[in-house]
Order: sequence, then C-alpha cells, then structure tokens
Amino acid sequence: MKALVVTPGRPGIQLAEVDEPPPEDGEILVQAMALGVCGTDREIIEGRYGTAPPGHDRLIIGHESLGRVVEAPVESGLTPGDHVAGIVRRPDPVPCPNCAVGEWDMCQNGRYTEHGIKGLHGFGAERFRLQSRFVVKVDAALGLTGVLLEPASIIAKAWYHIEQIGRRARWTPRRVLVTGAGPVGLLAAVFARQRDFEVHVLDRVTSGPKPQLVADLGATYHTGDLKDACADIDILIECTGAGALLFQVMRCVAHNGIVCLAGVSSGHRVIPVDPDALNRELVLENAVVFGTVNANRRHFELAAEALAAADPEWLAGLLNRRVDLQQWQQAFERRPDDVKVVVQF
Ligand code: BGC
Repeated sequence: MKALVVTPGRPGIQLAEVDEPPPEDGEILVQAMALGVCGTDREIIEGRYGTAPPGHDRLIIGHESLGRVVEAPVESGLTPGDHVAGIVRRPDPVPCPNCAVGEWDMCQNGRYTEHGIKGLHGFGAERFRLQSRFVVKVDAALGLTGVLLEPASIIAKAWYHIEQIGRRARWTPRRVLVTGAGPVGLLAAVFARQRDFEVHVLDRVTSGPKPQLVADLGATYHTGDLKDACADIDILIECTGAGALLFQVMRCVAHNGIVCLAGVSSGHRVIPVDPDALNRELVLENAVVFGTVNANRRHFELAAEALAAADPEWLAGLLNRRVDLQQWQQAFERRPDDVKVVVQF
C-alpha cells in the first residue's frame, strides 16, 4: 500500500510503498478517506520534530485522520463502513498516574508515543489498524469534514479545562477572544458560539476566507493590534503560538480571566517584558494562564458531539483545499488562502 513517509531529522517527504499494517497493531482495520495537514506535520517534514518507531528510520506521517472501518469485531461496537478517526497519543509504558487512568494527554514522564509524530506510525497510509479503545466514531453525515475531529479534540480539551478552572469561584464570563483564525482558532470560536459567548477573533490577514468564516459564525473579526481588538475579555484562547503575542495576551484579560495557550511556538524571539507589571496584573486580578496539548478519549468524544452539532456547510468551508493522493506534493505547499488542507485517499 502507499503511505506518506519521512525520515525524522531530515527534511523531505515522499509517497512510498510500505507493508500492510500488521494485525498486532489492532483489531480494527481502517481504510483511509482523508488526512488533515497541520503545522506539526510541516515541522516534521522540515526535519525539526518527530521520531520514527523504534528500529525504523522512517515514519509514516499524519495524525489528523478520517477513515472507513473495513474489519471490526462485534464487541468493538463498530461495523464495517462506520466513519472513524484514530486517537493520536498512546499511554506511556510505565504508566504514569495519568496514563494509567486514560489521561495520556497529561502524561507526566513524557514517555508517551504519538501516531505520525513520536515513535508510532501515523495515519497517512491507505490502511491502518488500531485497537478499538483508540478509535472514535465520527458522524458519517459529516462526510469529509469528519477529518476535523482531531483538531476539534484539542479545542474540546481546552474548553473542558477552561470550564474546570472556571469552577474555582463564582464566574460569569461573557466575552471570548481567540487569537489566530487557523483551523484550531476557528474551531475554538465554534465551541465558544455553541456556548453562547460573544466571540471575537484576531488574525493578521485582511483578505481570503477567514473574515467571512468568522462573520458566518456570528463572531467579530479583528486585525491589527491586540489591545484594539476588544476590551474586557473573560476567556482568551491563544492559537497562534506567536511569541510576540504571548505577553500581550496574558495582560489583556478582565478580572478573574482565563488565558488558554493552545498554540506551540516554533521560533526564538527576544522581546522586552515588564515582569513586575505582568505579575501585578495576574495576581491582583486572579488571572489564570495555562497551556494545553493533545487530547484523551473523553475530549475526542466531546469533539465528535460538537462537530455533529455544528453547521455542516460552515465546516465544509474550512476544508478549502482538498488534494488527491496522486497530487500529494501540493498538500504540503503553503498557499495564502489555505485554512485546512486535506489529502484525499
Ligand atoms: C497534535 C497533538 C500532539 C502535539 C505535540 C499536535 O499537532 O495535534 O496531538 O500532542 O502536536 O506532538
């Protein structure tokens, strides 16, 4: 079968012939339908991130999956034809207290593995196998947009944690700001609208599909300076990973505000910061700044519900470049109007 493979540590990606997935990978055999491309994949392709499975030089890339079940035992609850996505992370072998209870997204020793990223082959192959506990069913009515389940799981976790933190005291949040109108930012905005918040989204671009996608959600699109975007933000979800924004976002929430950092920085930037002013604002206003990565099964299931409840046409607008496997190279080119690029199998 064909698969998209990289040699971690070395720039480049190719479509290669690889072996069929072995039965020991899991009892569920999945035929790939689509693969989403994200910033992590680009870093791996540039040779800056990622590790191959032990004993291998090459890694099958891809962690944003959508596929059709080909084989599944009755006790899995899945039937051939069901649409599914694979969970990205596997618990560490120790396991740490979190991995031991299925909270591998909070792994404490860093020895977890991740499909298509860290020590495990990914979903960028015509077929893959998984154990049923790492497979999540996606509403087939979503069609190809079911491939958004993985990025949506990241945001489902972010909201789950925001709500947990919010329970520390009486709190009546009203206004949400999302920085970054990429797929993760736009999904963060959908989740916020589903919770009836007043939603603002800040991004650099002034043209292309993003402003309209935000407007269609009933949210307000901003460009330019963060401090001009809007005031009195109760919840800020940072999805750019842009270092220059980081200290600004921490300082722009209202009393009792929560700042969730969901974007991973890739550069090295040095900027002047006034740590005393930052400390005063965070402490005297009971602010919380927290980071979040990855997702466990609960978050995938919450994400599946949220996607099923979202406007299918709007979701389809996010997948604004769909590339057939034969033209796979095009999927990894960056084009200015891209929101989510997917490879179709
Ligand atoms: C994935 C996460 C993963 C993280 C770090 C992200 O792109 O969505 O599942 O934990 O990269 O490897």
